[in-house]
Amino acid sequence: MAVVTGASSGIGAASAIALAQAGFHVIAAARRADRLAEVTAQTGGRSAVLDVTDPDSVARLAASVTDELTLLVTCAGGAWGVDPVAESDAADWSRMYDVNVLGTQRVVRALMSALSAGDGGQVVTIGSTAGHGAYAGGGGYCGVKAAVASLTRSLRLELNGRPVRVSEIAPGMVATEEFSLNRFGGDRAAADRVYAGVEHPLRAQDVAACVAFVATTPPHVDVDLLVVRPLAQADQQTVARHPIPGRG
Ligand code: NDP
Repeated sequence: MAVVTGASSGIGAASAIALAQAGFHVIAAARRADRLAEVTAQTGGRSAVLDVTDPDSVARLAASVTDELTLLVTCAGGAWGVDPVAESDAADWSRMYDVNVLGTQRVVRALMSALSAGDGGQVVTIGSTAGHGAYAGGGGYCGVKAAVASLTRSLRLELNGRPVRVSEIAPGMVATEEFSLNRFGGDRAAADRVYAGVEHPLRAQDVAACVAFVATTPPHVDVDLLVVRPLAQADQQTVARHPIPGRG
């Protein structure tokens, strides 16, 4: 059995579907029940309404996981704001830390006994290339994803000697429906500019294929960190863009 958080959209939804196709019984977890229903229609698994910022909600999820848990994918997260550090809003940073970092911590903590109960468990965190290199306007988000990367490394060290694998997948630019829209406070034009002229940003399904790969390697293989970017993105700052017709 696998639990995927943030499974109501984007990378998490695609991962739940890819894992179901790989043979996992998937519990798709997030806040929006209607969106989860669309996912479980494709996975054949079940959904769990979950707010990773609410300890009671996380405890309810853990109580509902009665079968052996072999995989936890922590995908719930997101970015809010692109302001320079000197103009940034602490509330955005606090919200990002709560969802991305504490959200991961709460879920890992609550599900660790279920993950450790059987012959082998696995935790896959969804970090970001933002956690491995800063960029202007990314002070808050790069910081929280660096914390996710660090948390993942600590967890691997702490579990050494036990049959629980720990991996981070760090995607670059992924064109999902909601991520950039949320980041830019619903400003569709600003969200679209992130991907403007980029021939093929990653799709949620591309990252989901990485999740399924990491989850289906033999039990003695622990993918430490998997960084995946679109071909057009050589690094955080270097993105090949075609000129947009009508723009100078
Ligand atoms: P989405 O916005 O599509 O997905 C975010 C998911 O997180 C949704 O399912 C949302 O569901 C869930 N979520 C948000 N807040 C909470 C909460 N409090 N409790 C439970 N679930 C929550 O974005 P992506 O699919 O693009 O991103 C998924 C992950 O990948 C994030 O961690 C993101 O930081 C990371 N990432 C994204 C990249 C990109 O370019 N898109 C690049 C690198 C990493 P709901 O609202 O229903 O709760």
